[in-house]
Amino acid sequence: MHIFENTDGYSRVSLAQFPTPLQRLDRLSEHLRHEIWMKRDDLTGFAGGGNKVRKLEFLMAEALKQKATAVITVGALQSNHARQTAAAAARLGLACTLVLAEAVAGRTDAYANGGNLTLDRLVGAVIKRVPAGEDVNTAVNQAITDLEAQGHKVYVVPLGGSNIIGALGYAVAGREIEDQARAVGLINPTIITGSGSAGTQAGLILGTDMPVLGISVAANESDLKLKISQIVNEGSELAQFPNADKKEINVDDRFVGAGYGQPSEEMKEAVELVARLEGIFLDPVYSGKAMAGLIHRVQSGECSGPIIFLHTGGMPALFAYDDVF
Ligand SMILES: *Cc1c(COP(=O)(O)O)cnc(C)c1O
Repeated sequence: MHIFENTDGYSRVSLAQFPTPLQRLDRLSEHLRHEIWMKRDDLTGFAGGGNKVRKLEFLMAEALKQKATAVITVGALQSNHARQTAAAAARLGLACTLVLAEAVAGRTDAYANGGNLTLDRLVGAVIKRVPAGEDVNTAVNQAITDLEAQGHKVYVVPLGGSNIIGALGYAVAGREIEDQARAVGLINPTIITGSGSAGTQAGLILGTDMPVLGISVAANESDLKLKISQIVNEGSELAQFPNADKKEINVDDRFVGAGYGQPSEEMKEAVELVARLEGIFLDPVYSGKAMAGLIHRVQSGECSGPIIFLHTGGMPALFAYDDVF
């Protein structure tokens, strides 16, 4: 696998297909009477698509540089990040253990065994489930010990791939969006994205001067802003992102609903609307709630100028929400 060296000593492996398309959503724009574009990072072209592969191109290069033979990562049972990490490990010939928290209460058997978990099993990941209330870090440490006992050198990919290394993938994406928006003549667009572990939004803030609004899928506004600012501040110490720490961080936490991974009525309506107007599948945990936020903000007059909605992927999780759709 070819590792690209770039500035600042960060390396990158090639896993995805870039650039992803930037498309005008004609029927949704007409329906909402507002100009809506979509950046199709559901079409990153690797292992079911989604945003995490952009981060993994940098994180996995770091794992290879450290001569890792196995990776571990963490997430909820239906983690898209876990699925993409497991697939990237398979592609690079590394072993992979997923430590998955049973953190979303009241879901169906499809949630507990289907959706992303089917794909995790297909790519050969070892899956360790952490029952609700038990400590994830303890389970991660146990998994490290087990792999080391088998002679592996282990690299731990953080939750959501969200540290400065992973966020570089979205700094690159920010520049990609800026180039595409310029090419189609968009004036003062705002990027809207679902925001969970913060690396996607932080990376976009590093990579572009366009305003970026994160719709939280879990944390309250101040907790999420703190997570984003920690990564942005780290980035601002790199030569390529001077003064990034001075940039504004915008978060809307009104669309979390009953909690991370818990379906909401607005999410369901947003996912159905985009499917029926555009033939595009959002996901129930992230992009569906982000789209619910976009719709609410447009309808209540909170948006000016064209919107670029970042479709972050997650379609396999739809199959885990068979009680909702
Ligand atoms: C992880 C994920 C996000 C959120 O990205 P973060 O970098 O964790 O904020 C959004 N959408 C989907 C589908 C995801 O899997």
